[in-house]
Amino acid sequence: MAKSLGGIDKLKKAAEKCRDCDLYKYATQVVFGEGSAKASLIIVGEQPGNEEDLQGEPFVGPAGAMLKKCLEAAGVPLAEVYLTNAVKHFKFKQAAPGKRRIHDKPNAMQINACHHWLEDEISVIHPKVILALGVTAGKSVLGRNPKISTERGKDLAESDDSPSIYVSWHPSAILRNPDRERADQLRHELIKDLKMIWKKISATER
Ligand code: SF4
Repeated sequence: MAKSLGGIDKLKKAAEKCRDCDLYKYATQVVFGEGSAKASLIIVGEQPGNEEDLQGEPFVGPAGAMLKKCLEAAGVPLAEVYLTNAVKHFKFKQAAPGKRRIHDKPNAMQINACHHWLEDEISVIHPKVILALGVTAGKSVLGRNPKISTERGKDLAESDDSPSIYVSWHPSAILRNPDRERADQLRHELIKDLKMIWKKISATER
């Protein structure tokens, strides 16, 4: 029987009232995960960006567009993926009201405070693979800061009972990299990781 999104919808409603850290005070709204309730792959980003905060959906800004292009290039159907973030409210700096809101990295306390929502999403979706994009997502999923350059491509799950866990580059790291050659390399590596993960998931479904 297909799983319903009911569990996720209930979590989202509950997260709207979350006061477990101070980020709810400044963001427009909570941005919970979205996607298939029977997804075999959960992709975790860092936190909502400006667009996500305004629209209330994850990965709808420039980084999301980059991720979707990479998923397409890797042959991963977006309909089979659940997208979420380690931290559910947008953290930003702003010089003055009305000025541009600049992304600010969530701290360890905020990542830890928000972690239970990610755990709840994982228990409802029950994926085969969790892919953490960037160090913040990796810290939330693994409980430590991963070194993406040396740990990508390896299954980092510590137990056979848990979903496989991989880390890779966050699309923002590609977009913000001033060295276009390096940015292209990171994009290729993200696509390669997505291809490898999808091959692994497809093999278990045969
Ligand atoms: S960022 Fe997470 S822990 Fe903090 S208020 Fe929002 S939902 Fe709660």
